Amino acid sequence: MTVRRRCSKMHTVCGRFAPTPSGRMHLGNILCAMLSWLSVRSVGGQYVLRIEDLDAMRCPRSLADQIEDDLKWFGMDWDAGGSEGGEQWYQSNRFAVYKRYFDQLERRGLLYPCFCSRAELHTAQAPHRSDGTYIYAGTCRRLTPQQIAEKRRRRPPAVRVIVPNQEVSLIDGCQGVYAQNLAEDCGDFILRRSDGVYAYQLAVVVDDAEMGVTEVVRGRDLLESTPRQIYLYEQLGLPIPKFYHIPLLTAPDGRRLSKRDGDLDLGVLRAKFGRPEPIIGMLAAAVGLRPTAQPVTLQDLAADFSWDGIPKGDAVLPMEILEQKK
Ligand code: GLU
Repeated sequence: MTVRRRCSKMHTVCGRFAPTPSGRMHLGNILCAMLSWLSVRSVGGQYVLRIEDLDAMRCPRSLADQIEDDLKWFGMDWDAGGSEGGEQWYQSNRFAVYKRYFDQLERRGLLYPCFCSRAELHTAQAPHRSDGTYIYAGTCRRLTPQQIAEKRRRRPPAVRVIVPNQEVSLIDGCQGVYAQNLAEDCGDFILRRSDGVYAYQLAVVVDDAEMGVTEVVRGRDLLESTPRQIYLYEQLGLPIPKFYHIPLLTAPDGRRLSKRDGDLDLGVLRAKFGRPEPIIGMLAAAVGLRPTAQPVTLQDLAADFSWDGIPKGDAVLPMEILEQKK
């Protein structure tokens, strides 16, 4: 693989997988990797692997390497990125790039320091959304320069971006139309934490644009972040990719499967099945790419892949396969 900074400009379609290596992958991560790969490979597009280790303490390189190994075991390949792509594909090495874009927003007066502590944020009367997050009430937006100087002496601030009282909408390739009023549904959000780490919302936008990514495939749990990201694309004058927010996996009883289900960890699944085809077949059946969970390869799926039948809602995993003895 040649060392490249981005997708080749000759290819019109470029997809990516952007895992956070804070643990071993589970089936939901593999489903995401698989659909993002199929979506571009089925049309001859390119694919890149970016490691989202912004929080370097939680994301050791050994876990990133393990993810690559797991992806290769499944038969996935990529044209750029990952360990062979070099350090520029790891977010922990890209702070200088994020700073450039952050400074652009700062020069335009869109950013302000926020000194609110976690406890203050939780006791503020900001309305809580259904998912448990708060809508920032804009407390620090109103600080005077003197107050800022005074507070800075006591603690380093996070930095927030001002959002307009305006609806941002997108047409998601899987979920259809989705809209949010940023001021009402989200509030001014953090772009840089008080410890100097840039926020996912900024890093993901900058990276997808700089790496030439034209389509983003990821879990439906990230749909509600997307209007914030579109707002940043617009403010930074960057091209907005196409989004596909894919179903989350559930057990037949409706229980959402997550990292906490240790039996769905790839270490366990690789040992249990010994080869990828039964696992790919099970995921293909869960999202309607195949009528039954027969073993199948990624290449077979790429031959007739289409987004048409992929459900919007949850994808039910045929658990009986997991429970079968090998
Ligand atoms: N790094 C994120 C995760 O592993 C995915 C971010 C994205 O795809 O935009 O959950």
